[in-house]
Amino acid sequence: MNKLLVFAALAATALLAQADNYPSKPITMVVPFVAGGPTDRVARDLAEALRKALGGTSILVDNVVGAGGSIGAAKVARAAPDGYTVLLHHISMATMPTLVRNLTFKVETDFEYLGLVNEVPMTVIARPSMQAKSFKELATWIGQNQGKVNLGNAGVGSASHLCGLLLQNALQADMTTVPYKGTAPAITDLIGGQIDLMCDQTTNTTAHIDAKKVLAYGVSTARRIPTAVLKDIPTLQESGLKGFEVTVWNGLYAPKGTPADVLTKINTALKAALKDPDFIKKQEALGAVMVTDARVEPAEHKKFVLSEIAKWSPIIKAAGVYAD
Ligand code: ASP
Repeated sequence: MNKLLVFAALAATALLAQADNYPSKPITMVVPFVAGGPTDRVARDLAEALRKALGGTSILVDNVVGAGGSIGAAKVARAAPDGYTVLLHHISMATMPTLVRNLTFKVETDFEYLGLVNEVPMTVIARPSMQAKSFKELATWIGQNQGKVNLGNAGVGSASHLCGLLLQNALQADMTTVPYKGTAPAITDLIGGQIDLMCDQTTNTTAHIDAKKVLAYGVSTARRIPTAVLKDIPTLQESGLKGFEVTVWNGLYAPKGTPADVLTKINTALKAALKDPDFIKKQEALGAVMVTDARVEPAEHKKFVLSEIAKWSPIIKAAGVYAD
């Protein structure tokens, strides 16, 4: 056998052995926003369910934050494709390519798709001292304070950025956006009255709405959210914002080139984790909706992300809401 063939045979054996033993050490799950926020909450609950599904292998959540979630995604795109680094990200995977110019990675080609995790509605919330009694009154107040309303978000390209921009567009309002490295610190400032408004996932806002620390004015989905805490909040569509609909979804990714056997193992574990009653209970109480089994298939996940890129791109462009 010539040297090249021997090398190729050895490399193939090493890869097979790697897949056979996988996972033999802790897996890092990169979350591109700060700890304590909505993406982090989903990630930590999922990490626990995945740990059980993988026979006790630890999943370490690593918050790689900044630039609206694109720094964490870029880190995973460049990580070793060995199954020990995965990315939990949300709708930004589909909106970043249009919302953010100069992305350093390609959503379409730099990742292996491991499956969708859930769908999460958003809520429009305000500081507790806000006087408005309804979304209509809030919209009037915003109109009277053009340019002066402070709207928090998790940075350019984040879900809160997208939702906030669509809100400004729908109300024809000009607000001052205040970027944070995630909506956990933004909601702290909202509670403290340093900012006026925010649009954020129910996986973060539910507890604060329940504790009356923030005021909720609308949900971003076409239908109301049937949880104990959120069921009485009207949809933005009911309040007159025709066609306003944003649903955040979370998905799991690995770097491009991760061996197929390893991907299959992670996907099988993900499917089991999404059936974990404890995970389902926690997620549903926060307004998240579990996805059907078909949507956890990698090919379906990728097809969905591509369809979301196609869906959001013209909306973002027409609204002129992209940013550098
Ligand atoms: N809710 C944030 C966003 O707007 C992300 C986060 O803090 O988890 O995308």
